[in-house]
Amino acid sequence: MSAPVVRFAPSPTGRIHIGNARPALLNGLFARTSGGRFVLRFDDTDVERSRVEYAESIEADLHWLGVRPDLVVRQSDRFAFYAAAAERLKREGRLYPAYETADELDRRRKRQQARGLPPVYDRAALRLTPEQVAAFEAEGRRPHWRFRLDGRTVAWDDGVRGPCTVDCASLSDPVLVRADRSYLYTLPSVVDDIDLGITHVIRGEDHVTNTGVQIQLFEALGAPPPAFAHHNLLTTASGDGLSKRSGALSIGALRDEGVEALAVAAMAVMTGSSSALRPVASLDELAEGFDLSRLSRAPARFDEAELRTLSAKVLHGLPFAAVAPRLALFGIVGAKAEPFWDAVRGNLAHFAEAAEWWGVVEDVVEPVIEDAAFLTRAAAAMPSEPWDGDTWATWTAALKADTGRKGRALFHPLRLALTARDAGPDLKGLLPLIGRARAWDRIRGTPA
Ligand code: GLU
Repeated sequence: MSAPVVRFAPSPTGRIHIGNARPALLNGLFARTSGGRFVLRFDDTDVERSRVEYAESIEADLHWLGVRPDLVVRQSDRFAFYAAAAERLKREGRLYPAYETADELDRRRKRQQARGLPPVYDRAALRLTPEQVAAFEAEGRRPHWRFRLDGRTVAWDDGVRGPCTVDCASLSDPVLVRADRSYLYTLPSVVDDIDLGITHVIRGEDHVTNTGVQIQLFEALGAPPPAFAHHNLLTTASGDGLSKRSGALSIGALRDEGVEALAVAAMAVMTGSSSALRPVASLDELAEGFDLSRLSRAPARFDEAELRTLSAKVLHGLPFAAVAPRLALFGIVGAKAEPFWDAVRGNLAHFAEAAEWWGVVEDVVEPVIEDAAFLTRAAAAMPSEPWDGDTWATWTAALKADTGRKGRALFHPLRLALTARDAGPDLKGLLPLIGRARAWDRIRGTPA
């Protein structure tokens, strides 16, 4: 069997949010674990609402999340394929013109409902005489085009939901091409899935009914349908859906706020699954044990506050190698960079705080002197170099013996003098990085 090919197919009509990150990552991880390819397809047939800027921001957001497409395609470049497919369906009697206006359809639906009938399109267009068609055309009406479903029940074995069926006899023949000749999503998606050799369609469960229709379209176009998997949708903690415009949860806003990409990825993938939410240090780690069948069928509620906590935990677990390029952007380079990261990471809520702590280690600090007499004794007890990870313990043990102080009374004046901050990473790790000369000056109240 050839390698899997999957796709993530956003419409570039807004910024993507954490709910869109779910299919993006589910597809990305699927490709990663199966040795397959990942296609980013922009569903931009709606030329009015689609924007190049949104497509660019989606690519940048995916890049930030660590999802790298092997191929990027735009539906707006591919209209000729859709036209050819539509012509084929017309020739084979599966795509037929209909002239009803939206108002006419609406009135008809209401009549059906009043009579207790399902509001399914009655295929009146198939019964039009050539004279009636000519009359509509003469009036200036242009047809829209409907796909003639066959009345079968379509069945597939869903990668998340198990055996699924859609009774196509209960659906209206879907409009594939509007009167203005623009395409609805249904046909272009299938044409592209065929042309790009998509083997697995992994998308939200809001598309289950579409899948029934689209499987018939694959068959009408002479192609075997791909495998389908429909994931549950992320909702807020109160169960509300996420719309593209739920700004604060857009990937861009989360990134700007300093939330870690791996926290967003872990949240997007693990929420609403049988995997317990946990911090990961790489997408490979997230991919380990990843399986679509772990997703549950209940709504995937996620808690924004938990996202922030998870983000801090992700930071605490990131090895130096994973952050070295980001540290370098803050000028945190050289031999000290790795011990520095190990000293501070467990204390960070946001990555950017590393820059502040680098300043404490490398820049001049105006010490805060709380207890000068105690600090004089601290200076006297300061161990000689070389300093290492034991120096803090040696120093404070000597000082404790000398002064009888312990706990906060012992440690806090030292912290204030050494860092000019009330709280922060363990001094065990920071002290050797500050070094004896600087530490001495700060303890003596001299900016250093
Ligand atoms: N553009 C569609 C959407 O965003 C794609 C659905 C699909 O994956 O087929 O819902």
